[in-house]
Amino acid sequence: MPKKSKQKKTTAKQPATKCIFIVGGVMSGVGKGVASSSIATLLQSRGHRVTAIKIDPYINVDAGTMNPTEHGEVFVLKDGLETDQDMGNYERFLNTDLPSINYMTTGSVYQSVIQKERNLEYKGKNVEVVPDIPLEVISRIKTAAKTAKADIVLVEVGGTVGEYQNVLFLEAIRMMKTEESENVAVVMASYLPVPGSIGEMKTKPTQTAVRMLNSVGVFADMIVCRSPIGVDRKRKEKIAKFCNVKVENVISAPDVESIYDIPLHYEKDELSLRLLETLGLSTRKKADLKEWKRFVNRSKGGDDVVKIAVVGKYFNSGDFVLSDVYLSVLEAIKFSAYKLKLTPEISYLSSQDFEDKKNLKNLKKYDGVLVPGGFGTTGIKGKLNVIEYVRKNRIPYFGICYGMQLAVLEFAMNVAKIKNASTEEINPKAENLVIGVMDEQRDNIAEQKMGGTMRLGQYPAVLSSGSVAAKAYRSKEIVERHRHRYEVNPEYIEKLEVKGLRFSGKSPDGRLMEIAELPVEDHPFFVGVQFHPELQARPLDPHPLFTAFVKASYEAD
Ligand code: GLN
Repeated sequence: MPKKSKQKKTTAKQPATKCIFIVGGVMSGVGKGVASSSIATLLQSRGHRVTAIKIDPYINVDAGTMNPTEHGEVFVLKDGLETDQDMGNYERFLNTDLPSINYMTTGSVYQSVIQKERNLEYKGKNVEVVPDIPLEVISRIKTAAKTAKADIVLVEVGGTVGEYQNVLFLEAIRMMKTEESENVAVVMASYLPVPGSIGEMKTKPTQTAVRMLNSVGVFADMIVCRSPIGVDRKRKEKIAKFCNVKVENVISAPDVESIYDIPLHYEKDELSLRLLETLGLSTRKKADLKEWKRFVNRSKGGDDVVKIAVVGKYFNSGDFVLSDVYLSVLEAIKFSAYKLKLTPEISYLSSQDFEDKKNLKNLKKYDGVLVPGGFGTTGIKGKLNVIEYVRKNRIPYFGICYGMQLAVLEFAMNVAKIKNASTEEINPKAENLVIGVMDEQRDNIAEQKMGGTMRLGQYPAVLSSGSVAAKAYRSKEIVERHRHRYEVNPEYIEKLEVKGLRFSGKSPDGRLMEIAELPVEDHPFFVGVQFHPELQARPLDPHPLFTAFVKASYEAD
């Protein structure tokens, strides 16, 4: 008997982790990241343990060194890695924190292969671009799956099929599919234009993209068709025939008002069932999207409107206005507004426009003003003017990171009357550096060690009882994510507090000022935070400080 049970144990195989790759066809910017997040949400809703990985085909080792107007927001993970904004979408859709193993760039993959070679881990063999780079990619995917104890891992390959940059990642898909075809599915997120002059949806670009994918030995199991309108049966059949996929695996993905509607749309074409079938997984468990649907319904509009102005410096790009740079901030405002049954009306204002004080009165029409994080000198004068105006006019203010440092600086200049005050980031020679470089950052700056060296990731803070912050969090201990090199200079704390500014959140050792606020008697809501609360705001779990800010904005006269 004991022998038998022993035998049973050794033969019981762990089910293999299934892997879904998402690649982009035709063009970029069609919402591949949101497609991946939505697919992940649907599989999760059917009871699977899902994790999501983003691959960026850049030489940059992480996203921290990329200009946000080019690449969008830098999303900081809990463990401190600076990543692409799609990681934020995954965290928001899956309502979970993701670790740094879930993000890789060409640069980071090469870096580890070279490091392993230096450590003699290849045992004297030739290290080659193929297969060693794709093998490193596959090994990272497997580690990520194991870390998350996931039964399904989604891998989004950045860029578009046909670009030189992502060929090695496509090679990783080919190798993995050859090894374990039953565990790998490939989804192409494509685009079907409806040219105005013709008025008909065209499938040819998708056919060409699929052929390009096939030319590197990768075959799509499913095609998600992004388009201005839904894809009809006739075109689905055409795509199926010319692209070698089953007609039921051609999924219609028309433009929708809110990205959070997308999982519900996909389910109309039974996307998750089709994927589970492709991967040989059970399709018996029904999708539980109750909570998600409740959130989506709330997002359709509330009882009243709340008008929030976000004053940033990265909005203008040529003739276009970009809001991607502040994506998480905008989403965080929306989640809190929906929770309060309000319709958020968010305006993107360029800080440079407020260098002229005459424009400040335009701020009167907003219920609340938010200054998000930032770097450098551009637009600073405008931001300081905005902060002075909202402080004096009692317009609710929420300052994030740079927005907190500048609020402290404005208070130092205009209330505490500290002469020639500045932040070291703008004017290192100023007499009174109210915001200074953190000690541990001095060498990094001097030696130009700028990549991945800021104070990054999650740190705890302790809040003072009775403060605006503690009331919002309903807790005295919090954990938030950071990304900065500068801090409130401890030498000025007393001078500022005497004049009425309160440092209501500090690092547990009391050294770093994490929150500055004005008491409610002095201002309806004036809070600055050194961290980035937006990174932890989730559709199903809005951030308490954003909720407090939006509520105060709505309620203030
Ligand atoms: N530039 C500031 C610093 O490095 C603020 C950074 C930010 O807003 N993320 O401290």
